[in-house]
Amino acid sequence: MRRHSAPRTVRALVLLLFAALAAAACGKEGSPPTKGPAAGKLPHYAVAQGFQLPDSSTWKRAKSRGYFTVGAKEDQPYLGEKDPATGTYSGFDIEIAKMMSASLGFDPGTIRFKTIASANRETALQNGQIDYYVGTYTINDNRKKLVGFAGPYYMAGQGLLVRTDENDIHGPQDLDGKRVCSAAGSTPYQRIQQDYPKATLVAYDTYSVCVDNLLTYQVDAVTTDDAILIGYAAKVPKELKVVGKPFSQEPYGIGVPRADNALRFALNDALAAREKNGDWKKAYDATLGLSGVPAPQPPAIDRYPAS
Ligand code: GLU
Repeated sequence: MRRHSAPRTVRALVLLLFAALAAAACGKEGSPPTKGPAAGKLPHYAVAQGFQLPDSSTWKRAKSRGYFTVGAKEDQPYLGEKDPATGTYSGFDIEIAKMMSASLGFDPGTIRFKTIASANRETALQNGQIDYYVGTYTINDNRKKLVGFAGPYYMAGQGLLVRTDENDIHGPQDLDGKRVCSAAGSTPYQRIQQDYPKATLVAYDTYSVCVDNLLTYQVDAVTTDDAILIGYAAKVPKELKVVGKPFSQEPYGIGVPRADNALRFALNDALAAREKNGDWKKAYDATLGLSGVPAPQPPAIDRYPAS
């Protein structure tokens, strides 16, 4: 079938108009998307001067190259989001990554972020692709066998995202026979598999692909941490809603190479200091706090010994 198309000049003018409108809406170069954190409102983190961590091989390697390589997510609103136009990452996890870099003596502006999916975090830390990882990464004993964790810096809980026209799903007990999407290698995926075996699980690399599948009626629900789901629902509140109460505890940690206890201990100290001096709360308010949930008390830091 042939579609009628406007004459070329008219189309060109319309495109120009859109470009002008988009530029006006964006403001100066590098502005994040409208609903994301405003760059001007983000806190600045004092960079530790003369900081040394000679016992950490990760820190020494970063020192010789001049910056940290940090693993993160790029499609999780309010937490870790990459602006496709500028390549800039923003969100609460990104702020945590920045304040940690500053505490370890590196200007946060020098960080090179690398998007790493849930299923690839352990390998990325093990093979030195990244120095540390900040991206909704739940601390648990299984993962502690493979990597180290500083923190936790935030406590999330597993939840469910459905379409607003869905009336049958109110909690995980309603998932029997339903198609439920989550990210491969994630704790929410594992929990549904173990505790709700009558649900039909669908796995993708990322939650944003799950959300696309939900919007197009390929799946009935998306499950992961409430903090992540709230961000997707906020983007299209007419289409999506978070239902029920959180049904797990997901303490978010900063992933580090397992053998690098010196780095883990330094990050725990850095986190404690940033919670105390108000930077943690400022970072929360400027990012995840925009979802409407007021800043909680940060969870107690788990300073488990080297093994
Ligand atoms: N916090 C959960 C996990 O680490 C879900 C979020 C994610 O996949 O990053 O598996």
